Amino acid sequence: MTIGSDQKHPGGCLCGAVRYSVTGAPVIVAHCHCRDCQRGGGAGHSTGAMFPVERFRISGDLSEFALTSDNGTRVIRSFCPTCGSGIFGRNDGMTGHVTIALGTLDDPAAFTPEVVVFARSRPAWDTMNPALPTFDDQPAWKPDDGG
Ligand SMILES: [Zn+2]
Ligand SMILES: [Zn+2]
Repeated sequence: MTIGSDQKHPGGCLCGAVRYSVTGAPVIVAHCHCRDCQRGGGAGHSTGAMFPVERFRISGDLSEFALTSDNGTRVIRSFCPTCGSGIFGRNDGMTGHVTIALGTLDDPAAFTPEVVVFARSRPAWDTMNPALPTFDDQPAWKPDDGG
């Protein structure tokens, strides 16, 4: 996939009060099966795309929830206080970056997941592409999963 380095990808929450854009290609796109993502999103995994914070712009009110990730790092998840959509996360294991929830992009197919992390918490029913590199926890390069 070739993406122009200055191409903008807009996204937003369910109710439309929060809008954002990311520019260019993500650092990494990961499926995350950690328990925080499962509880926060209600599914077997979340899918996030990490960007340098300077390539992220957002408007609208946000609420935040801070937690300690399965990897022991501090994570702040930001969500729309009206509709509850999780928009992005920050992780102090990857400062200077944000991880946006891929499904909140206006075009969720804009980027392709490259890796699966925290597979140790994957439920058997949450079938994933076996061709993707899969890790029981989070590998050393630490893709920020937002939690
Ligand atoms: Zn909303
Ligand atoms: Zn996670």
